[in-house]
Amino acid sequence: MAPGHQVTIKKMPSTGAKPKAKPGAWHGARGTWPTTADGQLIITQSMVSSFVECPRETYYSIILGLRPRLESKPLTRGTWIHSLLEERGKGGDWRALHQQLTEKAENETFEEETAGLARECYNIVLSYDWVHRNETLTPIAVELTVERPMFRGKVLYRGRIDIIWQDANGDVWLGDHKTHASLPDWRYRELAFQHYSYLWAVAQAPGYKALGLPQPKGFIYDYCRTSAIHTPTLTTKGKISRVLKPSGTTLPVFREWLIENHMMSVVRGRDLLAIEDPAERAYVEEFLVTLKHRDYTTEFRRDRLVFSPEQAERQRKSFVTSARRLLTYKWDDPDCVERNLHACSGFMCNYKDLTVADLMHGTSEIEQRTRYVTTRDPLSYYPNQEKQNKSMASNIAQAKKVRNKK
Ligand code: SF4
Repeated sequence: MAPGHQVTIKKMPSTGAKPKAKPGAWHGARGTWPTTADGQLIITQSMVSSFVECPRETYYSIILGLRPRLESKPLTRGTWIHSLLEERGKGGDWRALHQQLTEKAENETFEEETAGLARECYNIVLSYDWVHRNETLTPIAVELTVERPMFRGKVLYRGRIDIIWQDANGDVWLGDHKTHASLPDWRYRELAFQHYSYLWAVAQAPGYKALGLPQPKGFIYDYCRTSAIHTPTLTTKGKISRVLKPSGTTLPVFREWLIENHMMSVVRGRDLLAIEDPAERAYVEEFLVTLKHRDYTTEFRRDRLVFSPEQAERQRKSFVTSARRLLTYKWDDPDCVERNLHACSGFMCNYKDLTVADLMHGTSEIEQRTRYVTTRDPLSYYPNQEKQNKSMASNIAQAKKVRNKK
């Protein structure tokens, strides 16, 4: 996706200066507000969501266009798993990609750090693949950018959809992969802007129309739980450690481990145990049966959200109201941009050092120059670590392939 046309409308001070502004005038389009080549302001659901959380975060991330300067894209479970699921969604070889990511990570981080992370990401996607082996959802496109004009064409809404599926009935679902240490309550995302703004956008988005699909039936939050799937270990006596219970692993992870440790072999497609000790063999047999029949919804869950036209309209109005407030917020005097102290958890906000420096010292210019880079692309989270976007042509080709198969 090409970033928006870059126009600095007016340089914003970090704090302190108070430009003379007419009361009631709109001061939204200052600083590095992202725009298209023909001057439309660009907004995304995450801009609106983060503005509702804390206007000051929007000030740093959008109005000043600042992102933390990173030596390399952070190696997190979330980004790693996301890349593997994207590869799986487009019909690629996620294991080969995993190997590439592991090699890259080994060159960039400490080996022990990489080994644990790589194993966990592999276990999650291996298990995801198995849990959803009988799924009736066919991936149609991944990483699709969708756009729809708002406010009589003055503003362009832009979103990036992780995955688009079609089910056995021909119904289309937009999806988003989410990783969490504990899966949230079903209602956690019910009020979020993400799903309904995407559903609203695809009704007119050229990128979606090009796929030749009907309007989606709904949205799926596709959850994976992290830190929940463990690889078995051997005791010093060569027995399987009893510390790991069936609730702490999955059938494919346990099975692959048995094969790697020469306790199982596959003969003409059949799994055969190669354990001589009868007690150990009985333990493994029972473990495998439990794994086969256990419920995996505590690790993998898909929440499907479907809305009536009336609900969608109420959601649209709610989103538009917050978007309008974002666009008309007065950014002129940085000291007046509000801070929401409830949103300050270190993990969620990247701007704590700036907000503290601005409040305590009256400027954060040194921190901005040394620890941040500037971007005008609201979808660019790591501007100095650009990611190759999935091409539109490849999404259209995938959609055609699926249609021809049916
Ligand atoms: S640190 Fe807190 S107040 Fe400052 S921008 Fe972040 S969320 Fe807002």
